[in-house]
Amino acid sequence: MQRAQKILETTFGYPRFRLNQADIVGSLLKGEDVLALMPTGGGKSLCYQVPALVLEGVCVVISPLVALMQDQVDALNQLGIKAAFLNSSLSVPQARQTEQALLRGELKLLYVAPERLVTERCLSLLAQVKVNLFAIDEAHCVSQWGHDFRPEYQRLSILAEQFPHSPRIALTATADEATRKEIISHLRLENAARYINSFDRPNIRYAINESGSNRDALWRFIQQNHTNDAGIVYCLSRKKVEATAQWLTKQGRVALPYHAGMDSQQRLQNQQRFLRDSGVIIVATIAFGMGIDKPDVRFVAHLSLPKSMEAYYQETGRAGRDGLPASAWMAYGLQDVITLRQMMQQSEASEQYKQISQQKLEAMLGLCELISCRRQTLLSYFGEDLKEPCGNCDNCLSPPQTFDATEAAQKALSCVYRSGQQFGVVYLIDILLGKDSEKIQKNQHHRLSTFAIGQDLSIAEWRSLFRQLIAQGLLFVDSERFGAIRLTEKSRSLLKGEVKLLARKQTRPAATAKSGRKSNSPLASIHQPLMQALKQLRKSLADEQGLPPYVVFHDATLMQMAEQRPQSLQQMQFISGVGERKLAQYGRAFLDVVTAHPLPNTVSSEYSDEVNQMLIGLAQGEDLDAIAQQQKVAMDVIYQQLASVAASNELDLLQLLPISTDDFQLIQQALTTCNDEPGGRVRAACKLLDEQFSKALIQCVAAANVP
Ligand SMILES: [Zn+2]
Repeated sequence: MQRAQKILETTFGYPRFRLNQADIVGSLLKGEDVLALMPTGGGKSLCYQVPALVLEGVCVVISPLVALMQDQVDALNQLGIKAAFLNSSLSVPQARQTEQALLRGELKLLYVAPERLVTERCLSLLAQVKVNLFAIDEAHCVSQWGHDFRPEYQRLSILAEQFPHSPRIALTATADEATRKEIISHLRLENAARYINSFDRPNIRYAINESGSNRDALWRFIQQNHTNDAGIVYCLSRKKVEATAQWLTKQGRVALPYHAGMDSQQRLQNQQRFLRDSGVIIVATIAFGMGIDKPDVRFVAHLSLPKSMEAYYQETGRAGRDGLPASAWMAYGLQDVITLRQMMQQSEASEQYKQISQQKLEAMLGLCELISCRRQTLLSYFGEDLKEPCGNCDNCLSPPQTFDATEAAQKALSCVYRSGQQFGVVYLIDILLGKDSEKIQKNQHHRLSTFAIGQDLSIAEWRSLFRQLIAQGLLFVDSERFGAIRLTEKSRSLLKGEVKLLARKQTRPAATAKSGRKSNSPLASIHQPLMQALKQLRKSLADEQGLPPYVVFHDATLMQMAEQRPQSLQQMQFISGVGERKLAQYGRAFLDVVTAHPLPNTVSSEYSDEVNQMLIGLAQGEDLDAIAQQQKVAMDVIYQQLASVAASNELDLLQLLPISTDDFQLIQQALTTCNDEPGGRVRAACKLLDEQFSKALIQCVAAANVP
């Protein structure tokens, strides 16, 4: 274990293990099998990479993500670790080369695609070397009920039979109780030590927007929160992917499509750009993203409803893997609910499968319609109990308004009933609103007792209410009858008034989008220029080697550099994420950038950003006028800032303030005269001087005038 700690520090550059990484590593070093559930960004890979280096032999990593193996191997090579991969992207000679290196004992880690691993050739190859560990990544792919099902995963039980002396670790970032059981039985992990981490991703802000899947809401969200950030936008269909990418491009963002219908070369190219350039938005079907290791994805937006909580958790989990603030945003509406309900009914799958998918969708809809903390519900779905509301989801930040919708719902239900349970939502709303349409006339529905009884609500409000009724199972969409709405078992008690219905009030999208918004950058603005310079250096170093920037250093590492400003290689070594190899390779270059951006010693982390900005401006010889203009504030605000730090910084106020020496002395005298005034000397002096000078200015002089 001491060696493991040493490797963590020197090779990977991290001072200590996180979560239960240390326990997992300890188990593996003892030769135990392990099942590890870790949230995305929890440092899954270190759990096997560290033991792989401690133990003699090679660690075999089974991963379904062929397209990403190159990046994973590149990242390890950057750390000075010998690693390679075997998958279908290699030519035969290339694969032979890797096999030879393996047989010569040169590799510490080998990544293999599952379909390759279970071949006779691969198994006999591995039998000839010492495999110190099998790491089965994305282990939930074993579950046939899951959305990432990979049949080859179920054949991995072969490892237990053929390599009884090599410990195995199964890792996943998503698995409910049922999936956990499947992993254990299919992978023969009955005796494995189990490490279940919290699923909470506190840095992700969840928001589910009921505005319907429209682009304007998406654009508002991006503009307000992520003007320059990288993000993923999920859409249900390929057509919508293409259209949305084009539209975002027209709005001035770099937005690239990604779906299974594109040719693979183009798809790979788009993925590479997303990984390597900064601020790229990828618009994708759910085919994109599993195992995407990009740590600085700042937002994930859904323009369609995910089919289950697992899918939602996993897809949103691709945001903020570096632990810095990130958003998970979704827009959904009535049509989504109807479409998904219909898709499920029409599916060719077995009854059992349909039933399970139905329940999963139910849970997802429940999350959307929720009026309390989203995180609490999300976590409780995974069997975790969050005691207090999170304070970082839309419902916590701006609690939705609710209203007693019992009466309105009764009107809706009885309208469904009286019109014969054979019409869709649009028509039903027309009846409720008393619309004078041909169809209504023809059906004689203007004679119904429910005709025009719903004029107290708008169309949008009715749509919202119908959506909630369908989502809660109080109405049923019959796909065999073209989406006709029917009553359900549950409808009866509501119609009879035995239960009440509390519904979400239709909110205006702009109001929800704005409220509770904080700055998304946790780095103080005085460090931003250095941060930008560090990013630029990182980009050019990465480009030279054809690597994604985060393989050189993560954002979190650069941020720490910008804040702590190491002045020597010795100090640089204490920055988290700077290991020996990277220190040797990049340390000097980053140090040069840091030293080229000195901060004046007046600046302090105890001051506000604005005060520090002002002090930097002063150190650079700017006058107060210019600083006020930059900060877009009145001079008085600047005087107040100045007053707050004048005494402790020995600032020469006589020089700085835009008043003559005579005036300065005049104010000083006035202050002395008013020293004992009960209402405070500043106020009194202001009066005494006939308010020729602003109170803030006098306060400033007073601050310099330490008795
Ligand atoms: Zn919350």
